[in-house]
Amino acid sequence: MAVTDYDCIIVGAGPAGIFAALEIVTKSEGKKVLLVEKGKDLAGRDRKEIFSGWGGAGTYSDGKLNISRDVGGFLNEYKAPAELDELLAYADGLYLKYGAPAEIKGHDREAVVKLEEAAARAGLRLISFPIRHIGTDRCLGLLKNLRAELEGKVDMLFDREVAEVITANGAAAGIRTLDGAEFRSDFIILCPGRIGARWLQEVARKNGLQTDNNPVDIGVRVEVPATVLSQVTDVVHEAKLTYNSRKFDDPVRTFCMNPYGVVVKERNAGFCTVNGHSYSVRKSENTNFAILVSTVFTEPFREPIAYGEYIAKLANLLGGGIIVQRLGDLLHGRRSTADRIKRGALKPTLQDATPGDLSFVLPYRYVSDIIEMLEALDRFAPGLNSPSTLLYGVEVKFYSLRPRLTGALETEIKNLFAAGDGAGVTRGILQASVSGVIAAREALKRM
Ligand SMILES: Cc1cc2nc3c(=O)[nH]c(=O)nc-3n(C[C@H](O)[C@H](O)[C@H](O)COP(=O)(O)OP(=O)(O)OC[C@H]3O[C@@H](n4cnc5c(N)ncnc54)[C@H](O)[C@@H]3O)c2cc1C
Repeated sequence: MAVTDYDCIIVGAGPAGIFAALEIVTKSEGKKVLLVEKGKDLAGRDRKEIFSGWGGAGTYSDGKLNISRDVGGFLNEYKAPAELDELLAYADGLYLKYGAPAEIKGHDREAVVKLEEAAARAGLRLISFPIRHIGTDRCLGLLKNLRAELEGKVDMLFDREVAEVITANGAAAGIRTLDGAEFRSDFIILCPGRIGARWLQEVARKNGLQTDNNPVDIGVRVEVPATVLSQVTDVVHEAKLTYNSRKFDDPVRTFCMNPYGVVVKERNAGFCTVNGHSYSVRKSENTNFAILVSTVFTEPFREPIAYGEYIAKLANLLGGGIIVQRLGDLLHGRRSTADRIKRGALKPTLQDATPGDLSFVLPYRYVSDIIEMLEALDRFAPGLNSPSTLLYGVEVKFYSLRPRLTGALETEIKNLFAAGDGAGVTRGILQASVSGVIAAREALKRM
């Protein structure tokens, strides 16, 4: 069996893996790096495999770079604020270099302060931060440039799934792929993304690594006429608003706001959920965003991912896919029908959704939290809590179990690093990229 030696092996070609590889080859000379990806190379990718392949889950994403310590991950638990700010600026600079647009949204401080005040009066907190919006249609070009940069400098294997991490004397020693090939290296950076989270969990279990429970976020995608939110989205592009529900004291937040965007169906393994996009050129007349309720389950329950999947599957079972309901129908305790939706003021951007009743799917606690949040949002942006507001369900965000990591994202196994969404330390493109840089820098220092 062929065994090949490398200075560093990176698993996963999403933002974390790509930025780890980029960091090593641009900051050193002659280092042999292997990048192993179970999905396709960029040229062979299609939307059927949205989570796997060159660019990872970010390839067909909206490409919003959230330049923030507080959004898109938990790296603030591993790095001091000043150092993290520097890392975010560094990774953002690289995106700019490889094709992200120069424009940054959310910088008119005076207008932002006014919005923050209005949010506070409505019982909400507005978290504002600059955003660089690549746009789904520009993401592919940017990833092509990154691919070209690494061509010839990094060995890349596609359609090859890593099955096992090999260790020796408590340190990283190599990997074994599903087809039995072995590759040796003293440094391994695991960046398998959410799609590889279960695999990483298995690696942790086999190697006796400790893990911590992350939350599961469950909710709906809301669609309103773009004009209802334009005074907000013209200033901050994406309004991240948080709320603590009165009845259950649950943390509720808005997520992934897409001004003039479209609602999309997202295929997961064995079930589908809802999401949203906005294109840099193509515009709709609607704005969509998610309302998510965050739950951290306590002992003895340790299956937040299974719980979220169960609820998504229930929606699929009742609706044959995604369910769409007018808010007015939900509040009146009746299902939506195609006819009622047609009569509403708003035209849904997702055609492939079944009019139905979300109260058969979501537990009372979630419905109550979502209704309270919509009422608060209406005080901030009047018109949002309208009977014709559309709710699509369900939207679920899973966070991977987090292996216990050092400040350099090293696991309890020496020189074995874990970065990105799969390690549960990030949940967005920019922080995932930064996490790859953090692990790569530490590995380089020790090589
Ligand atoms: C529809 C959608 C829209 C999004 N929009 C945004 C946005 O606008 N802004 C934002 O910041 N974030 C967005 N995100 C999230 C963002 O894409 C992720 O946070 C980011 O891609 C995580 O990067 P990562 O490198 O950790 O993992 P991923 O991008 O998931 O990449 C992991 C890679 O590892 C590979 N892999 C997994 N296991 C193995 C294995 N065993 N062997 C080999 N390869 C393996 C996978 O195939 C995958 O290609 C969006 C996500 C989706 C799905």
